Amino acid sequence: MAIALLLGWPTVAPAAAAAAAVESVRVADDRIVIRFDAPIADAASLVAAGTRQILVQVRGALPGEGGRAAGPVRRISQSRRDDGARIAFDLAAPTVVGDAGFSEGGRALELKLQPASEATFAAAAEAGWSSYFPLSFGGRPRYKVAQAVPPSARAGPLPRVEGEPGRPLVVIDAGHGGVDPGAINAVTGLREKDVTLKIAYAIRDALVASGRVRVALTREDDRYLVLRERFGIARRLHADLFISIHCDSVGQGDATGASVYTLSEVASDKEAARLALRENKADIIDGVDLGGAGADVRSILIDLTQRETMNQSAGFARLLGREAKPLIPVKPVFHRMASLMVLKAPDMPSVLFETGYISNPEDARFLDSDAGRERIAEGVTRAAQVYFARRMAAE
Ligand code: ZN
Repeated sequence: MAIALLLGWPTVAPAAAAAAAVESVRVADDRIVIRFDAPIADAASLVAAGTRQILVQVRGALPGEGGRAAGPVRRISQSRRDDGARIAFDLAAPTVVGDAGFSEGGRALELKLQPASEATFAAAAEAGWSSYFPLSFGGRPRYKVAQAVPPSARAGPLPRVEGEPGRPLVVIDAGHGGVDPGAINAVTGLREKDVTLKIAYAIRDALVASGRVRVALTREDDRYLVLRERFGIARRLHADLFISIHCDSVGQGDATGASVYTLSEVASDKEAARLALRENKADIIDGVDLGGAGADVRSILIDLTQRETMNQSAGFARLLGREAKPLIPVKPVFHRMASLMVLKAPDMPSVLFETGYISNPEDARFLDSDAGRERIAEGVTRAAQVYFARRMAAE
């Protein structure tokens, strides 16, 4: 939090969720265009195989009335659902969503429709929700900020790297550690810092066993690292992918399931903003901001919305959702965005993986079991294999 203030940007989302409404819904040939009367921060789409629908969930928005159906869409209906507007498109033929994104400063969401075979339709339904955010698609960079990064000259020794030389490098960051326990289960005393380390080991072992990537851990024991050191280590190793492992927590309630976060200077919803506040606090122990303490840092100008890195991060996040969903409990909207310090390397695709709720008894048991950790590691490994295969195919 102190760091965010230092940099002069908001950690908490402005009131983007305040009362936007769906203004119109149109279908023309191969696309759906949804317009809003105010900017929207977050939307998601789902192919529902059972009801042969495409569902669009718009967080924080009020539903409008129906819409004009055409082409592959037979009927459009709108309702209030899960903190936002749910728009259902009944399909005349199997159809999936291709490219999608916001325009008009978050006031319009466009989804391209593609005719699909029954098999493709079923596969798209399996993939679950896809999330869309105004910043990740085609937006002009909004801010340039000065960001402090650790200079390599004064940095400590680097961790060991395992795996075959020449393979892409994945750095796994076990969240918290040392004086910072992270979240604690109030009943069992299970600590986030211990769980994240064990999960990081499991992911490392599975990735190394796959033979496709090299792997390093930012920490291999119970030690404290400031957030900049974590992505600083990965940058110095020239990592191709950075995955920070955490466990979610809430004071009350039975929230459950995993989710993944990528960077945005504006949080995608209130929950994402709260998460950013909590995770960014890891640099502040006993009221002292260690992230900035005595840091002989240089400032470099970073284009925060570097589209390529953000899109790659979002691409991995989507793959992780697809691959993890059959293996572990996940939240309905898996991919979210937040201003998370640990994701702020500008040139390295980075995600923060909230593997489940340490505050939930069932999630906590799953996270603290060998079987649970193996399934998490399996999901990450499958996603990484597809991710790097695609990257190599694209080069
Ligand atoms: Zn955490």
